[in-house]
Amino acid sequence: MQKNEGSAPSRHDLLVVGSANADLVVGVDRRPGPGETVLGSDLVVHPGGKGANQAVAAARLGARTALLARVGDDAHGRLLRASQQEAGVDTGGVLVGGAPTGVALITVDPSGDNSIVVSPGANARLTPGDIRAAAPLLATARVVSVQLEIPLDTVAETARSLAPGTRLVLNPSPPAPLPDEVLAACDPLVVNEHEARFILGEGAGSTPESWARGLTALGPRSVVITLGADGALVSDTRGGDPVRVPSPRVDAVDTTGAGDAFTAALAWRLGLGEDLAEAAGYAVRVGAAAVTKEGAQASFPTAEEVAAL
Ligand code: ADP
Repeated sequence: MQKNEGSAPSRHDLLVVGSANADLVVGVDRRPGPGETVLGSDLVVHPGGKGANQAVAAARLGARTALLARVGDDAHGRLLRASQQEAGVDTGGVLVGGAPTGVALITVDPSGDNSIVVSPGANARLTPGDIRAAAPLLATARVVSVQLEIPLDTVAETARSLAPGTRLVLNPSPPAPLPDEVLAACDPLVVNEHEARFILGEGAGSTPESWARGLTALGPRSVVITLGADGALVSDTRGGDPVRVPSPRVDAVDTTGAGDAFTAALAWRLGLGEDLAEAAGYAVRVGAAAVTKEGAQASFPTAEEVAAL
């Protein structure tokens, strides 16, 4: 049985520290302009947020998963906790109160174009103090996965609070400048093309290999770049050239949440002891399976569905 070095056996394969949002979706014939009111379809409410998405994606694959997040003491918070529990996520670390649950207000027109307003709400109140108070939970996980829909100070405190032997996976989404200490803790830093170009800025180069070189120079122990239908590219500072990991060909229906499913699967498999290329090989299959169905959490596959791909 695998153990975290120097600590008790891990109770969780993966701890996700991140956001939980209610996505409030209304279909419209035309998105309203300034000062305009339009009528829309019946409201549909989906559980979302990158943290909540990753936790559900991992648990659905069979990973022992916990979520550290903050929601409001309201109906959306209850919906989010219920959806996590239904997927098998340990929600003991989901804090309640301080602000309303984060929401994304989404209008979608018939062509699929959308306008989105995000109210971070309780996500913005997940503090460094909350991370310090959760030290016992952090010590239970082989891998901790974070994104940037919570305050950057909280992400930095998470990086500082890792138990010995625990691996940090960071997807810097939405992209923001990252402190060196956070970059140095990433193993891997997981980015898509947009995030890679944001972090590298001018002079990023035009190929994934050049982005991998540029990102590696910033200090993470490893880098993974997701490339949509082309799969991913992985680069480990501990040895070797960047390696391309192709994706299975699928009929893509909706790519929402594909990056979250990919990152969750990658983090889980790394915690099981796979190397970066092996873990990415599994994660591209999970991402590919996720794009064959509508929605985010609703599209995340089970291990059986991944095996059948
Ligand atoms: P994001 O969702 O963050 O923009 P990507 O578009 O790179 O990130 O997708 C993440 C992963 O999802 C990819 O690495 C791949 O495994 C899978 N994926 C995304 N789009 C497709 C597609 N059209 N066909 C197959 N797999 C896909």
